Amino acid sequence: MKIENPYRCNVCQMAKGEANKWLLGIPIVNGSIRVGIETESDPQGLEPPSIKSGYILLDWDEEIAQNATGVHHLCSDRCALTNQARYLREDVKVRTA
Ligand SMILES: [Zn+2]
Repeated sequence: MKIENPYRCNVCQMAKGEANKWLLGIPIVNGSIRVGIETESDPQGLEPPSIKSGYILLDWDEEIAQNATGVHHLCSDRCALTNQARYLREDVKVRTA
């Protein structure tokens, strides 16, 4: 018996198939992600800078797709870039309401 696939593309609404190369998109709001940057000029290990806003694209990861909140399921490079461009151009605070 085939289980209905729970994922649909957030952009074009296509249902996820087994063979498709899907991506995940994560809007970043309020500096929720910290990046570790190692530099030789910073031996003290200062607090790494945080990403304040943006839109990250990831390879498909079943665990993140299922359990992360606010993550977008994207069917293709095209839809991923469309959504990314949308977020980068618009005011993120408005869109996350
Ligand atoms: Zn799509």
